[in-house]
Amino acid sequence: MASYDVIIIGSGPGGYVCAIRCAQLGLKTACVEGRETLGGTCLNVGCIPSKALLHASHQLHEAEHNFEKMGLKVAAPKVDWKAMLAYKDDTIAQNTKGIEFLFKKNKVDWLKGWGAIPEAGKVKVGDEVHEAKHIVIATGSEAASIPGAEVEIDEKVVVTSTGALELAKIPKRMVVVGGGVIGLELGSVYSRLGTEVTVIEYLDKVTPTMDGEVSKTFQRILGRQGLSFVMGAAVSKVAATKTKAKVTYTDRKKETEHEIDTDVVLVSTGRKPFTDGLGLEALGVKMTDRGQVATDGHWKTNVEGVWAIGDCIEGPMLAHKAEDEGMAVAESIAGQAGHVNYGVIPSVIYTHPEVALVGATEEELKEAGRDYKVGKFNFMGNGRAKANFAADGFVKILADKATDRVLGAHIIGPMAGDLIHEICVGMEFGAAAEDIARTCHAHPTYSEAVREAALACGDGPIHS
Ligand code: FAD
Ligand code: NAD
Repeated sequence: MASYDVIIIGSGPGGYVCAIRCAQLGLKTACVEGRETLGGTCLNVGCIPSKALLHASHQLHEAEHNFEKMGLKVAAPKVDWKAMLAYKDDTIAQNTKGIEFLFKKNKVDWLKGWGAIPEAGKVKVGDEVHEAKHIVIATGSEAASIPGAEVEIDEKVVVTSTGALELAKIPKRMVVVGGGVIGLELGSVYSRLGTEVTVIEYLDKVTPTMDGEVSKTFQRILGRQGLSFVMGAAVSKVAATKTKAKVTYTDRKKETEHEIDTDVVLVSTGRKPFTDGLGLEALGVKMTDRGQVATDGHWKTNVEGVWAIGDCIEGPMLAHKAEDEGMAVAESIAGQAGHVNYGVIPSVIYTHPEVALVGATEEELKEAGRDYKVGKFNFMGNGRAKANFAADGFVKILADKATDRVLGAHIIGPMAGDLIHEICVGMEFGAAAEDIARTCHAHPTYSEAVREAALACGDGPIHS
């Protein structure tokens, strides 16, 4: 039995960041992980592999559609799917090994195996019981099934994102159930690789929690790229053989039933917290009615010395949200003032164009009765975007009508996921749109579109 200041259960972005920060703050730290490799969902079967396939398939798109326009004559590119998967796996390995290196460097012990909490202050891994003054639950999430539908996931024909990241071959047809982040990112990957992709979405808009204008533009652009959409449809059944599937859905407005035959079905209707096997019920840890570990807003559970972070608690299921909570908990345990500003957590979809947002949507401001103004700038007026065949989309900044303080930003366009961060920093500092508008932005960059949108909140943009 070993004795620690902190044991973290789970080594995803929440857990591994928390472990490293605890060690940096002088706490004797261990992290329990049951997978073969560190890094959690994000590094093994989430953010990193999906971005590798998005990158590879985007390069294919560029070669097929834009090379010739720039005077680059190459033979028609061919896809070697096995090699593409090997590139993705190599990217995963580099990242997961990187965490192993960081653990060694920071003297974090990796306790290999599945952990449970038999009582407060104790963590059991295999036959070993370790003591810890503090225990952090960072066990993440798993794919949820289609609510109310008859479906069996085999990760070959009917897959979650995990199976979709390693299909045996590129399918001819794919039905994506759920037009959210996973469905549209992975749907884009396969569409670019030549698969006929049909997205079935329950609601009338894709990525339903996003700003309505962005969501509409996003669906239109994806449609132009070849994805088909069936909106306002509830899937009731997925019947599969070893090689094919039939998806039954109801048009919710017309109340008519339809069927689609397909080769692969991707179920991407959300994720749910994963806390199996921890023994939380016996320990008396309070849960929310959505199955999340309940915390007091400062990541403490109702059991003294037991904390929780990341996808297994409430809030957006995002790697950087989990990381921020990991750091904040480490600081809180070390006696510092751990803090996360939940009002400034960006969200990004890594399609092409990318979609990024932070802060309030117009819909939320309207509902709150807040007086606001909109500064919008189309990438069509941005020289760099035009040169790079990336002029689809816009930047939209929402600012308080009276004070000009930035309340939110919504970007659909090239490198939106990077551009959003100047708005995040601005919001952290309570910036007015004019502060962004008066900041010199290098030319020619995509970031000039952000400045122009900020100018549009005041006397007006220059290039539109
Ligand atoms: P996880 O990353 O889920 O890690 C939890 C770890 O705990 C797992 O490794 C698990 O094996 C381990 N564990 C669980 N129980 C035990 C136990 N009892 N004992 C030992 N170990 C245990 N987010 C983004 O911000 N950007 C993206 O681009 C993005 N892309 C994604 C793409 C896909 C396909 C998916 C599925 C998710 C994506 N996400 C993305 C979401 C992101 O992966 C999660 O929000 C993030 O991983 C949550 O981190 P976490 O530390 O809470 O949990
Ligand atoms: P999601 O919540 O983003 O989208 C689920 C979609 O499925 C919604 O549009 C919803 O209306 C729809 N839906 C629900 N039930 C349905 C039904 N019966 N029939 C048809 N559609 C239905 O969930 P996701 O795409 O599975 O992603 C899960 C989580 O992973 C998200 O919380 C997301 O934050 C995270 N993630 C993030 C990224 C990123 O940051 N780039 C990438 C992938 C995943």
